[in-house]
Amino acid sequence: MSDAVSTNGRADGRPPAIVVLGAGALVTARRVRALYAGAQVHGLQGRIDVSPGAADVSFSELGEHLRALYASGTPVVALCAAGIVIRCVAPLLANKGAEPPVLALAEDGSAVVPLLGGLAGVNAMAREIAAALGIAPAITTSGELRFGTCLLNPPEGYVLASLEHGKRFVSDLLAGQTTRIDGDAPWLDAAQLPRAADARLSIGVSAREWDGNRDELRIYPRSVVVAVSVAESDSADSLAQRVRDALAARGLSERALAALLAAEDAMDSVALADAARLLEVPLRFVSAAAAEGSTAALLGSVAMSAEVAEVADVGASSPAIASPRSLLANAVPAGVAHEIVHDEPALAIALGAAPIDPLQLGRARGSLTVIGLGPGAAELLTPAARAALDDATDILGYATYVAMAGPLRAGQQVHASDNREELQRARHAFELAAAGRRAVVVSSGDPGVFAMAAAVLEALDTRSDPRWEKVELHIVPGVSAAMATAAVAGAPLGHDFCMLSLSDNLKPWDVIERRLRAAAEADLVMAFYNPVSKARPWQLDQALDIVRSIRSADTCVVLGRNVGRPGATLRNTTLGALRSSDVDMRTMVIVGSSTTRVVPRAGKRDGDADWVYTPRWYR
Ligand code: SAH
Repeated sequence: MSDAVSTNGRADGRPPAIVVLGAGALVTARRVRALYAGAQVHGLQGRIDVSPGAADVSFSELGEHLRALYASGTPVVALCAAGIVIRCVAPLLANKGAEPPVLALAEDGSAVVPLLGGLAGVNAMAREIAAALGIAPAITTSGELRFGTCLLNPPEGYVLASLEHGKRFVSDLLAGQTTRIDGDAPWLDAAQLPRAADARLSIGVSAREWDGNRDELRIYPRSVVVAVSVAESDSADSLAQRVRDALAARGLSERALAALLAAEDAMDSVALADAARLLEVPLRFVSAAAAEGSTAALLGSVAMSAEVAEVADVGASSPAIASPRSLLANAVPAGVAHEIVHDEPALAIALGAAPIDPLQLGRARGSLTVIGLGPGAAELLTPAARAALDDATDILGYATYVAMAGPLRAGQQVHASDNREELQRARHAFELAAAGRRAVVVSSGDPGVFAMAAAVLEALDTRSDPRWEKVELHIVPGVSAAMATAAVAGAPLGHDFCMLSLSDNLKPWDVIERRLRAAAEADLVMAFYNPVSKARPWQLDQALDIVRSIRSADTCVVLGRNVGRPGATLRNTTLGALRSSDVDMRTMVIVGSSTTRVVPRAGKRDGDADWVYTPRWYR
């Protein structure tokens, strides 16, 4: 789903969780948050509220929370004693695997201690935080203190060939050896390395496979781009193997791969997406017009901007990038007719003179994710929906719901619209996704219940642009208003029930009447969505009359208003006593069946209603 480059355990770019235990730490926490786009303040429940001036996320148990963050690879800045942090994550340290940066920061901002994640840039973070707070970071890594950089943690776009060997190499330097640098390592210009032109040891920056020479610290620049053509018969394994074989034949390392490239018409190929995942590289696409040439042309059309130094063609009959034909294919603008005379491209490789940023190559396959926010409370938003929001480049929805989806990252585009423009909004989302963006459409509750998921599928069904078919579409469920209301009321939906929208905006009123009668006769519990609005003043009364003609006046009715939101109310009444003036458009009306009953609720506080439930059995 994401464009993230595989980082071999580095947590590059992921915003940290800033964990605070008390309000006294908030000032420092906010200064750190300002340093990292997308960083969130995690506050201990009961001590710090989730509100714009305080925490963004709340947690109830520190140890559990720190371990969950650590295990998910999230960088952690904990504003508490270093010892506490160490004790909390200690049980996880024996496991090898990704180790995110973990730092302890004094509440008053007077000390910052990098604890874990030496290879994930913890010292760099400690320096950044220290610089912002005007203090000295507690760096204890010898190599870094001596050389001013961590050789084992090269910058974005570069990757170390062997960590184990790297550690020995650094110890050799610390023990007094000198080194030369073969290749381009601009970030080492400012480092205080013991350099000597005739040194036995060398730091080699090259995309060529390391031969295991112990005297060389090999660093791969991610400067290789492979373009492939995909056939129906290709599997993920066969595609990945083809890439590996081709790289091996050229002596290039798989870890120097920056991206896999293909033509847009292969955008929905599952084999291709899985092959990119196997190779742990981002997948990028270029327009079909450019791809009409060879795979080499495909590369040429996008790689020019990335300072490609060399392009090699692999495959029986694919032409070289320098061939007139591929040059032609590059030069001809999309849409201008031209003839392809040779067309058996298999795979082409571009080798850049420096790391190639995959984001510069063509575009990603766009995605469209429709999510449900639940009724409103942050804890009723599912982690899957939160993850989709965090990953989005664009967020679309009714303004009120978009506001509920925060906090959003800087740089995320918000497209708020009127509640009535659903189909238009769905089409806009497809347009964005077809252009390579990651669009998220928000609904309240569940997106599939009288909400945007159906509008999005309708937009796809009536698409005006064939590219919409290639968009990666996901629908993430949410807690619907009926479920949220039922839970606070007890279990009124404990037996067969139906959900009905009383809005006649999109369906004729007589259909609603027929369904109400059928549901009432079938003795189903009924959950009414959209019960009334200013534009539909009489419909609820008419609906209730129909139900009353079939079901008895003492039938239980639950009214949940603004459930899961500030000012939530819950009321129990009966079908006989219910008046349409008790209900507004923010109310969920649940009308019980003949068996729905009330049980006293112990320890009721003001405004609490008794429990209502529908038994599982039937008489
Ligand atoms: N997709 C939403 C429903 C949208 S229809 C969901 O699954 O919940 C809008 C109707 O849902 C409102 O008119 C109201 O009847 C109900 N509703 C939505 N949020 C609610 C809430 N927090 N409390 C009570 N009812 C709610």
